[in-house]
Amino acid sequence: MMDLNIEPTHSQPNQNEEKHVKVLILGTGPAGLSAALYAARAELSPVVLTGMQHGGQVSLTYIVENYPGFPDGVSGTEMTELFQKQAEKFGAILEYDTATRVNLSQRPFRVETYNTTYLADTLIVTTGATPRHLEIPGERELTGRGVSYCATCDGWFFKGKEVVVVGGGDSAVEEAIFLTRFANTVTIVHRRDELRAGAILQERAFGNPKIKFIWDSVLTEIVGKDAVKSIRIKNVQSGAEQEFQTDGVFIFIGHTPNTELFDGQLEMDSAGYIVTDKLMHTNIPGVFAAGEAADPVYRQVVTSAGMGAAAAIQANHYLDDLAADTSPNKAALKHP
Ligand code: NAP
Repeated sequence: MMDLNIEPTHSQPNQNEEKHVKVLILGTGPAGLSAALYAARAELSPVVLTGMQHGGQVSLTYIVENYPGFPDGVSGTEMTELFQKQAEKFGAILEYDTATRVNLSQRPFRVETYNTTYLADTLIVTTGATPRHLEIPGERELTGRGVSYCATCDGWFFKGKEVVVVGGGDSAVEEAIFLTRFANTVTIVHRRDELRAGAILQERAFGNPKIKFIWDSVLTEIVGKDAVKSIRIKNVQSGAEQEFQTDGVFIFIGHTPNTELFDGQLEMDSAGYIVTDKLMHTNIPGVFAAGEAADPVYRQVVTSAGMGAAAAIQANHYLDDLAADTSPNKAALKHP
């Protein structure tokens, strides 16, 4: 089962070789690979760490239909491959490695990974987000045994079966529609009586005979020993509880940003999203953030890609200013 977390700690002292880089990018989702493209075209030879989930969440998406330039849609995997190919063509260097510890109080910034210690003049954080869990009995135990957070990865296992989708947003509805390729019936359980998803997706879901809805309801337990057998559902209006037979439970209830690595170093909001200004600056000059790790609002492939490009442009300006600054205190260069 996928794990989008970037491991926050490393128990062994890092004995690895040190590499000095001008631009280090953490993450290879749309934000990271767009930042890589722009930094590479500025001849900064960016190094990009893939983290635990190369390509980020979009790489697990069956089809992306709202990224300009692809009128027939494009699979998340293909999109990641194209982004990567384009960034590498101009000199970006991808490393299949994960940051385990950062020190942003020294210059260059120190980023330890499983294999290497990077000394980076600028850092672009695009570590993305991880699907949120329901935190109910049975969820953790049955993950990979019928509980899933990725329809593209696991949908095939539910050929001819009954599945439940939890959530009412774009992800839940889009993935529910995708799951109708395999499952007999897809039942969307939503905690309110109207969907949050956009109009086009709603229309498609309401028009799909394989999709059913259970409104105003939350799951209280996922039941099963070696595989999911049923769920317990509570109606939030009446308080009534029922058991509902199902073979699978797909959970799409939003995301948590992957920013633990920067706790106490980068300014974050109460939900853990990195705070940036309009120019993608974080509170530390020379550290930029883009994509879902810093975006609690839009969280689209196109907006993440745009943020990544902007972060790389600003990183380039920062390096230019750093090179031009002759003062002995140039490491503490302030935002322009
Ligand atoms: P989202 O928009 O935050 O929706 C989360 C859904 O889960 C909501 O319906 C929410 O209910 C429900 N929920 C949250 N916590 C819950 C809990 N503890 N128990 C039960 N239900 C819970 O997340 P998302 O669908 O993953 O979308 C994230 C972003 O990506 C959005 O900006 C979305 O537009 C975008 N996206 C776009 C597309 C597309 O355009 N094709 C596809 C996927 C995602 P409430 O509605 O009651 O809050």
